[in-house]
Amino acid sequence: DRVVSSSADELERAAEAALRPRRLHEFVGQPVVRDQLSLVLRAAMSRGSAPDHVLLSGPPGLGKTTLAMIIAAELGTSLRVTSGPAIQHAGDLAAVLSSLTEGEVLFIDEIHRLARPAEELLYVAMEDFRVDIIVGKGAGASAIPLSLPRFTAVGATTRAGLLPAPLRDRFGFTGHLEFYDDADLEKVLVRSAKLLGIELEGAAAGEIASRSRGTPRIANRLLRRVRDWAEVLGTGHLDLAAARSALGVYEVDERGLDRLDRAVLTALCTRFGGGPVGLSTLAVSVGEEPETVETVAEPFLVREGLMARSPRGRVATSQTWAHLGLTPPAAGGT
Ligand code: ATP
Repeated sequence: DRVVSSSADELERAAEAALRPRRLHEFVGQPVVRDQLSLVLRAAMSRGSAPDHVLLSGPPGLGKTTLAMIIAAELGTSLRVTSGPAIQHAGDLAAVLSSLTEGEVLFIDEIHRLARPAEELLYVAMEDFRVDIIVGKGAGASAIPLSLPRFTAVGATTRAGLLPAPLRDRFGFTGHLEFYDDADLEKVLVRSAKLLGIELEGAAAGEIASRSRGTPRIANRLLRRVRDWAEVLGTGHLDLAAARSALGVYEVDERGLDRLDRAVLTALCTRFGGGPVGLSTLAVSVGEEPETVETVAEPFLVREGLMARSPRGRVATSQTWAHLGLTPPAAGGT
C-alpha cells in the first residue's frame, strides 16, 4: 500500500510535485470542472464562508490532488492531507478532524476506501461539524460531542459510484475529471518543459501527448523519460526522432499502451479467446490486483475501444485483435 513506498516512487512523486499548477488559471483543460469549481469558490469567498464539500472523481493522474491543493490556495487557507487506506480506525479520523482550524481544507484521497465506522463519523462531521467521542465501552459507553471548526472536505475517488450514497450526498459539488485531449496534453507538456528548462519541439510534444493516454501524470513522466534518452543517447535535443526512439525504449506504443495494457489485452485474447472473462481472473492472469486493472488500465482501454465490458465479463473487440496483430477465432471477437 501507499504507506510503504520505495525511494524511486518518492523521487517520481517529488518530480511530479514540482510540476503541479498552483492556481486555477494555471490548471490546463477540464473546462467544465474548472468553471464550476471557480464559481463554487468565488461564491463562498464573497460570502466570507467555507465552501461546500467537494468530491472529485476520475481515473488516476488527471489532477484530483492538484485541484485539492488549488482549492486551498484559492481560498487562501491551508490543506491537510489524508487518505482512506491511511485511516484504520474512526479514532484516527476523529483526531485529524479535531485538529483542523477554521476554514481549512481536508483532502481525503481514495475516500472510497475508508472503513465503515470512519465513514459514518465523517458524515456527521461534514453535515453538523461535530464528532462524537465515545468514552467507555459496552453499556456504560457515552458519547461526548465535540464541535468542529467549519472546514471543507475534498474527497477524491477513482469512481464516484464506489461511494455509498449517504457519503456521496454530503458533497455539495461533484467534479468529474475526464481524460484530456491531445491538444491539452501538449499544453501540459509545454508548461512542464518550460518549468524544467527543457527545449521541447512542437512535433515532439505532439508525439508524447498522443501516447500519454489522456493523462497529464503520464505525459509528464514520458517527458522526463524522453529527456533522459535525449541526454544519454541522443543529442540532448527533444525533437520528434528523440521522442519516438525514447518511447520505443520504454515500450510505450503509438497508441500509448504500456506493458500492463498490452499484458491485459494479450491475456484476454490468447488465454481467454477474447472473453468474456471476469475481472479477477483476468487480473490474476497478468499478476496484478483487480483494482489496478480496473482503475489504471481499463478506463483507457474501454475509451479507446480496445476492450468492452459485458454483463458476463471483459471482452475483446475487433480493434483489440487488430492492435495486437492477432486473428480472432472464427466465432469470436465482436
Ligand atoms: P491520483 O488519484 O493517482 O493521485 P490525481 O488525479 O490526484 O491522481 P495529480 O497528482 O493531481 O493526479 O496529478 C498528476 C500530475 O499531473 C501532477 O504532477 C500535475 O502536475 C499534473 N497535472 C494534473 N492535472 C494537470 C493540469 N490540468 N494541468 C497541468 N498539470 C496537471
